[in-house]
Amino acid sequence: MKLALKEVLLGTALAILVFLAVRGFDITPLILIAAMVLVLKFTVDNRSQSSRFDVIERKGVSTTIPQVAFSDIGGQDVAKREFKEALDFIRLDQEVRALGIRPLKGILLVGPPGTGKTLMAKAAANYTNSVFIAASGSQFVEMYAGVGAKRVRQLFKKAYSEAEKAGKQAAIIFIDEIDVLGAKRGKNVSHMEYDQTLNELLTQIDGITVNQNIRLLVVGATNRADLLDSALLRPGRFDRIVKVDLPDRRGRLQILKIHAKGKPLADDVDLDKVAQSTFGFSGAHLESIMNEAAIQALRCRRQQITNEDLREAVEKVMLGERLERTPTEQERIRIAYHEAGHAVISEKVNAGSVASVTIVSRGNALGYMRQHEEDDRYLYTKDELLGRIQVCMAGAMAEELVFGQRSTGSLGDIEQAEKIAKKVIYSGLSDLGVVSSELPTMTLSRTINQIIQEQECIVREYLAANVNKLHILAEVLLEQEKLSGQELRRILHQSA
Ligand code: ATP
Repeated sequence: MKLALKEVLLGTALAILVFLAVRGFDITPLILIAAMVLVLKFTVDNRSQSSRFDVIERKGVSTTIPQVAFSDIGGQDVAKREFKEALDFIRLDQEVRALGIRPLKGILLVGPPGTGKTLMAKAAANYTNSVFIAASGSQFVEMYAGVGAKRVRQLFKKAYSEAEKAGKQAAIIFIDEIDVLGAKRGKNVSHMEYDQTLNELLTQIDGITVNQNIRLLVVGATNRADLLDSALLRPGRFDRIVKVDLPDRRGRLQILKIHAKGKPLADDVDLDKVAQSTFGFSGAHLESIMNEAAIQALRCRRQQITNEDLREAVEKVMLGERLERTPTEQERIRIAYHEAGHAVISEKVNAGSVASVTIVSRGNALGYMRQHEEDDRYLYTKDELLGRIQVCMAGAMAEELVFGQRSTGSLGDIEQAEKIAKKVIYSGLSDLGVVSSELPTMTLSRTINQIIQEQECIVREYLAANVNKLHILAEVLLEQEKLSGQELRRILHQSA
């Protein structure tokens, strides 16, 4: 688009010049000005391109060996074992050469953001005593043909020269977001440039041989391995794929302990409880929790991090910062009943499940009820899924019961309930039985509706029979703004 516009402008300018010359005007000054503009543009372009290379080189290359060790990475036991096994190819260099084994050229780390892929690559450099060079796939994306490919060549050259300079036998090139650079060829809009860059990467990887003095290993990281061109995954290129998944409860505890080092914890802190309540959190989230908890302790001028600081930090990382929003008194009352509804039904469906309930706005939520998972869960029965739909819809049902109608505050809850209802349907747990993924939209939406309405009936009946619980909880919430799970259960018990 931009190129076409440029050509049109150039053509028009040329036509005007010819026209003026034919009409007898002296066009020499115009030609001189045009020449000066071109020279100026050429100089600026060149300078900005070379400074872009400088940025890559300065930002991407680290000649020191990173201080991260595999023991600094919590959880990920399987990934660490597989990764280390692969790295032993570099550590046992002599044996590998003697047996004529094809060198391992590339390892791909695949997993969600923040799970420690970069940490792994750094630990790999430490483990193998290699120079570590980091780059990101997006650094190779340029609209100018050939620039990306040139950067790939420079990156590999730099790896060899830095290793030589540092007196090392090996270098690790880490390419984060490799999917940006290594996506399937022919799929990108400006695909010629992308394809050239990827081709250059393939050529450079193919050029790695066992006979070189410096062993080179390319470690790629992505959370979208499905986007990668199959040529990259071919044996002899990225032929080891290591999955770096979200940590399980034991992994989360290890990560929390790693990031608790050097942070004074009060006696009431139980990191295992924090690990238990943070299902689905990545290592980066857990690091952030420990950091936020320490900041919270500092804000309160405390010398130690308490359990309350950690609870606050978990909620902040999960839902966002507390907001200074001030709903009207009418809205506060409605929010209190809404959250009380969620809490009452959560305790009905699964006793002891509420971690906290509050009517303080945080992130996008005007109030919220947080549940803790008893343990990491990967499988749910139909009853459990239906129970979760009941909890989602309980806020709206409490509003309907007390105020006669619902409000827009249930939008997020409805989305959540719909998602769970879809899970019921596609897992073959609905009245439709096993269904194909191409279920007609009408049938899908009718069945979602039916599932949600049935659960709403159950919730409506229960809340109507226990409306005193709603009144008492709402009253306490309006007064205290926040209740812990234990306090909530005590109140529910007393009002039974
Ligand atoms: P992205 O895909 O977004 O680039 P990533 O998987 O490369 O993320 P890292 O950059 O390695 O994630 O991790 C970010 C931060 O999270 C680390 O600096 C560290 O503080 C923390 N972290 C992540 N995973 C772990 C872990 N397994 N053990 C300890 N800390 C971790």
